[in-house]
Amino acid sequence: MDDNQNLRLPDPALPVLLKGQKALVTGANSGIGKAVAIALGRSGADVIVNYVAGDDAAQDVVNTIIAGGSKAMAIKADVSDETQVQNMFKEMIQNFGTIDILVNNAGLQRDAPFAQMTLAQWNTVIGINLTGQFLCAREAVREFTRRGINRAVSVSAGKIICMSSVHEVIPWATHANYAASKGGIMLMMKSLAQEVAPIGIRVNSICPGAIRTPINSAAWSTPDAYASLLSHIPYKRIGEPEDIGRVAVLLASDLTDYMTGASVFVDGGMTLYPEFSTGG
Ligand code: NAD
Repeated sequence: MDDNQNLRLPDPALPVLLKGQKALVTGANSGIGKAVAIALGRSGADVIVNYVAGDDAAQDVVNTIIAGGSKAMAIKADVSDETQVQNMFKEMIQNFGTIDILVNNAGLQRDAPFAQMTLAQWNTVIGINLTGQFLCAREAVREFTRRGINRAVSVSAGKIICMSSVHEVIPWATHANYAASKGGIMLMMKSLAQEVAPIGIRVNSICPGAIRTPINSAAWSTPDAYASLLSHIPYKRIGEPEDIGRVAVLLASDLTDYMTGASVFVDGGMTLYPEFSTGG
């Protein structure tokens, strides 16, 4: 890493924008999901920390949120399993009463050259990254629709934030399953946003690029890999999970009430065709 990274990291206090709201973040015991869960908690929301493995890591996130003054609870569930997802929502509603914010974050990679990619690698990535987002969003929409708008909490009936990727638009050789899952999220998100807008539900995506988390550690953990990664990032620093947490707070809040169906790129300019930065 270079000094530039630390020099340029922001550290703003998070405003309390989400008081009284109940949030569920999937895959919240690591990386981006963890930072989003903590940021929502700091901004006043009570948070369900979903995870599939790693009880201690999930409890650490819960403890951090509680220490900040919000309620939190961990629920173990595999987002690609319909019954487990439905049971997770039941448990959330029993404990928190309802849901106002869903952050569909859980995701993984199973990379392989196309000709060597197994059906299991394909199905695992599509099952968790895309079908998992469908299953969670469907349960959230059912509860938002049942409850409707509660103006004391928010002017919308509910918010869904899908964690997509710059790879919803950038093709990615040897990652066809992952890019297909993120491209699928883009049109699932926009179709859902169009369908539920009339009943006051907002649906948007965050498209991160190059955030320092375990999923992409190979790309930043050696000096050579880090230098090569920076060549794709015009802003010349790698993203931190907190960069995504702050955007999630904004998208979940009424400050962005007129936004729905948007893919919000948080990528230091990765999608700005950096190879043309000197005029091409
Ligand atoms: P991560 O590996 O740290 O976090 C992924 C989380 O999802 C983990 O907590 C993992 O346990 C969880 N998870 C995996 N399978 C699950 C399942 N079946 N049920 C429930 N949870 C499950 O990686 P991350 O970088 O924080 O990734 C989070 C999201 O951000 C993913 O959707 C990823 O595609 C997306 N993303 C990350 C980057 C990046 O640069 N790190 C860039 C673009 C998009």
